[in-house]
Amino acid sequence: MNGRATLTRFAWLSIAAAIVTISLKAGAYLVTGSVGLLSDALESLVNLVAAIIALIALTIAAQPPDEDHSYGHEKAEYFSSGVEGALILIAALSIAFAAVGRILHPQPIEQPELGLTIAVIASLVNLVVAQILIRAGRRYESITLEADAHHLMTDVYTSAGVIVGVALVSLTGWYLLDPLIALAVAGHIVWTGVQLLRRSVAGLMDTSLPAAEREVLDATLAPFRDEGIIFHALRTRQSGARRFVSFHVLVPGTWSVRRGHTLLEQVERDVRKALPNTTVFTHLEPIEDPASFQDTALDRVEETKDQH
Ligand SMILES: [Zn+2]
Ligand SMILES: [Zn+2]
Repeated sequence: MNGRATLTRFAWLSIAAAIVTISLKAGAYLVTGSVGLLSDALESLVNLVAAIIALIALTIAAQPPDEDHSYGHEKAEYFSSGVEGALILIAALSIAFAAVGRILHPQPIEQPELGLTIAVIASLVNLVVAQILIRAGRRYESITLEADAHHLMTDVYTSAGVIVGVALVSLTGWYLLDPLIALAVAGHIVWTGVQLLRRSVAGLMDTSLPAAEREVLDATLAPFRDEGIIFHALRTRQSGARRFVSFHVLVPGTWSVRRGHTLLEQVERDVRKALPNTTVFTHLEPIEDPASFQDTALDRVEETKDQH
């Protein structure tokens, strides 16, 4: 988990970008009166809130495990990406609401050139910051940074729609185009919000590692299987950037504790090498004992029965 303590610098970058774009877009709205630019400015305000939440989540996630959180604090990232998804959905609703109002009460747009120029500059700021965040998000496996980057890219698409809308209105004089394009953009960003919510819920639900990573895990255990070692009760889950893997290791009962432990150390090291940022838990069992095979489920069948 090296280097993750400094991830907050990306959240600060996002906060700075939000302040710059809010100022630009709010100014552009005051000058032009374009509802598209207003909704754009409102969404940048949401960006500021999202970036602050990302900063808090990354700060908490970087804390080392302690007595109250012995599995670490990495899950804090899912709250941030979940809130980010919800905020994107709210932004889509507010854009749609403003656009419908504009359709019912069409108004001419004043000084479209200035509005366009400012929207283009703000979009470039968002585009550059989003690319930096998405790279950092992938490199450090931070769903918080990735979510923030998607959010900023959503803004870029929104702004592109607004720019096209304002430009077309100034060319054709058909005022309905501005809100109609805003509606289309709102529909598009609903999708991004839903995806982020889905991934956040998956993380909070302790969803298993992706199939590709489970295959890597299987390939790592294969050489040991060839030597007659049996593995079962294999469980995986993800907590932000940290992976958790646990399984039972069945060896001949005549092995010494030392020999068994040396094998566990080797298997665990190989798993950590194959899947970075993985915490491995193992449980050593004698291969000849039938009881070793009765603990593969989360609950032990006979004990569960006894309780009823
Ligand atoms: Zn040990
Ligand atoms: Zn077992």
